[in-house]
Order: sequence, then structure tokens, then C-alpha cells
Amino acid sequence: MTSSDPSPEHALEAPGLSWSGTVDYGPGPLHAPNSLAELQELVGRSPRLRALGTRHSFSEVAASDGPLVTLARMPADIDLDAAARTVRVGAGVRYGELALAAAEHGLALPNMGSLPHISVGGASATGTHGSGDRHRSLASAVQAIELVTAGGDLLTLSRDGDPESFDGAVLALGTLGIATHLTLDLVPAAPMRQTVHLDFPAERMTSEDLLAMLAGGSSVSLFHHWDGRIAQAWVKQVVGEDEELPASWLGGTRAREAVHPLPGMPADFCTDQSGQPGPPHERLPHFRLEFTPSSGEEIQSEYFVAREDLAEALAAVSDLGAQIRPLLHASEIRTVAADDLWLSPAHGRDSACVHFTWKQLPAQVAQILPEIEQRLAPFAPRPHWGKVFTMDPDLVRAQYPRLEDFQALRDRLDPDRVFRNRYVDRLLGE
Ligand SMILES: Cc1cc2nc3c(=O)[nH]c(=O)nc-3n(C[C@H](O)[C@H](O)[C@H](O)COP(=O)(O)OP(=O)(O)OC[C@H]3O[C@@H](n4cnc5c(N)ncnc54)[C@H](O)[C@@H]3O)c2cc1C
Repeated sequence: MTSSDPSPEHALEAPGLSWSGTVDYGPGPLHAPNSLAELQELVGRSPRLRALGTRHSFSEVAASDGPLVTLARMPADIDLDAAARTVRVGAGVRYGELALAAAEHGLALPNMGSLPHISVGGASATGTHGSGDRHRSLASAVQAIELVTAGGDLLTLSRDGDPESFDGAVLALGTLGIATHLTLDLVPAAPMRQTVHLDFPAERMTSEDLLAMLAGGSSVSLFHHWDGRIAQAWVKQVVGEDEELPASWLGGTRAREAVHPLPGMPADFCTDQSGQPGPPHERLPHFRLEFTPSSGEEIQSEYFVAREDLAEALAAVSDLGAQIRPLLHASEIRTVAADDLWLSPAHGRDSACVHFTWKQLPAQVAQILPEIEQRLAPFAPRPHWGKVFTMDPDLVRAQYPRLEDFQALRDRLDPDRVFRNRYVDRLLGE
């Protein structure tokens, strides 16, 4: 920050590191405006600026060689319209807090990611998803987005009012402006139960059986270690809608006590697995808001493939099992329904997600990823924008049929590339 900076009171020192400690956000400074007016003034005078959410991405999507801005000091608005089943929420609000507010009105988010700790703005910007054959990415619940665009103007785009640009604006990797508020769809909070089945035999790795496991509830996660079988199936069911699973199901056995998806981690970090009905926000995420999610000492990677290709894609990677296992905490398989968002990894394709929670061994992970990506290549994988991958940018871009439309929208809203960073330049072009 220079002495001529007109608003030194809301500029902090340096942005620091990501949640996992593996991404350095750069020299900063990190600005923390207290109000919309301060944010607009900041954007208006900034030739370069990147938004920072709750710092949970593993890729360099948020990093910058210039200033960043956090909305952490902006009012955490949660304006809920129970009759319309919508909520207008500050972009910096975490899903866990939003879900609690919705629950007070008997309402819920259509789906949640594995952790409730992430911000609505940051998760929407990267296409964060939960699991479920019928559940789309979390950003698909957004029906309006309010952005401070280059120059400092406030622009509101809505699903109904701006059909020609909205699908490009919700999931935009922070490139179109700083989102201040998002309006989301809510659904009635139907009670859910969660159970875990363990140790599925190797012969259940067929396409038919894997898809049957993933269809076992409204939201299902399969955990495995590339040893040719599924170790844990976490099944989240809507009470009264999904059929309760028998103790022995598709060769797996119902867990007698709670488990953590990562070996050696305490199960009390996790949401209830007893089968007791509870509110969706206490069943859909794997991890409880008041505890550290996952391991902390980790790196994550994830690739979306067509759902019908899942078994073949897993088989293609499986010959790397002996190399993958020493680097791995656990792998997870989830499903996401197709959506229309231009940069969504689930764009136009019912997807299965092949996920890796790596130990914090960045050099070894960087070595094995190209091997994995080479084996996944025949299945046209789309990497999660917020996780680590090494795919050639041309191959990534080729997976997005609406990319040209997105570039035109970006040219219109940010012609001088105020919101660019190296990651975006490399993957989307300058
Ligand atoms: C333990 C753990 C579990 C995870 N589980 C899942 C999961 O279940 N499913 C999944 O899909 N992902 C998962 N992730 C990844 C994570 O959800 C995404 O990377 C998500 O983007 C993180 O949100 P954030 O608020 O931390 O955003 P950040 O990482 O801080 O930022 C991500 C991007 O959003 C942009 N951004 C942030 N705020 C704004 C804003 N106000 N306006 C404009 N742009 C903005 C940033 O510029 C950046 O480009 C997990 C991550 C961790 C650490």
C-alpha cells in the first residue's frame, strides 16, 4: 500500500496462505472494506483486484500478484423470503451459517458440499458441488447475482431477467467482478438420515453396481483407495422418500459405529451416521461446521467425467494404484446432475466426479497428476477449478462449448482485465 492510498484504514498487510497452507495468495495487499460504498470506491480506483473467499481452494484460482479483497468485514446479510423460498445472502457468508438461518424457517439449501465452511460467493465462482444423481452444482441454486464491476458500478444479473448472460456470470472464477450478494433458491427442509456401508467386494466395481450405489440415496459419496473396491458408501436419504437400505447392501455391510472418510481421523468431526432423521444441513455435509473438515494436511484434485463412463474411467486409472496409494488419504466418487452454467464442469453432462484427497506432498502429487490425466483423457475430463490439476489449458478449454460466449461477456464487463490473474490468463486466455 502506498501513502497515497485514499483508504488505508481498510487495507490489511498481506493476504497470506490458503486453508491448507499450500497456496500463497501473493504480496497483496488484502483489502477488507466495511461497506458496499467502500468496496465500490476500492474497485473504482483499482487497476487490478481479485476476490478472496474463505480460502478453501487448492488451485491458484484466487492468488494474485496484485491486490485482493475480502468481504469478511462487509455486513453478513441473510435476507430470507420464506413465502418465495429464496434468500439474498452476502457473498462472504458461509453455507453453514446460511443453512442454519434457512432451517429456522423450515427451509434448506437444495444441496451442500462436503463442508459447510466455504463462502457462497467463492463456492459459486468455482462450481463447487455436493453429490446426488439429481443434484446440480451449488451455483445452480443462484437466481440472481450482484456484482461490483470494473469501474465500481453495481450490476445485478438474474436468471429470469438476463438469460443471455446469467449462465456465464454465476460461475466465472472471479473474472467479472466482485460478487456482493447472491439470491438463492431454497427448498422445504425435509428430514434426512445418513448411514455408511463398508467393504464392498471387488466384483461390485462394475458400472451397474457403482451406479446402483450412487443411486442409493438422494446424495451418495463412495470412498476408496485404488485397491479395486469401495471401502465406504455414505448414503444420505430423504426420510419418507428414499427407501431405507438393508444392513447388507450390494455386498457392503452397514457400519456399526461412526467412521471418518480418511483413515486415522476422528469420526466425531463428521455428521451423524446413525440413521437418525435430522435436518438436511446436519446430514448433507460430511463434516460438522464446528470441526476441522477433512484432514487439513492435504491437497485435493477432482475430475468430472460422464456418469456412464465412471467404471471405465476408474479402471483406466487403476493400474496406477500402487503409485497413488502412498500419496493418498482417500479418494471419493460423487455424482452431479448436468447444468447450464457456461464454465461449470458439469455443463450439459450428467457427471461422476473422480476425486483425490492427497497427503501434503506437492512435488509427488504434481508428478502423478499427468499420469492420471493421461488415463482419463479418453473420457474428456473437466477438472474442478478449485483443485489441483496439470491438464493442458487447450484441452481444458476444449471441454467448454460456451467458452466463446464467456469471453465475449468478459470483454464486455471487464475489457481492461481488472479481475485477471495468472491462473485465469493461462486457462481462459488473457
Ligand atoms: C476440506 C475441503 C473440502 C472441500 N469439499 C468440496 C466439495 O465437497 N465439493 C466441491 O466442489 N469442492 C470442495 N472443496 C473445494 C472448495 O469448495 C472450492 O474450492 C470453493 O471455491 C472454496 O470456496 P472459498 O469461499 O474458499 O473460495 P476461495 O478459494 O477463497 O476462492 C475461490 C474463487 O472464488 C472467487 N471468489 C471468492 N469470493 C468471491 C466474490 N465475492 N466475488 C467474486 N469472486 C469470488 C475467487 O476470486 C476465486 O477465484 C473443498 C475444499 C476443502 C478445503
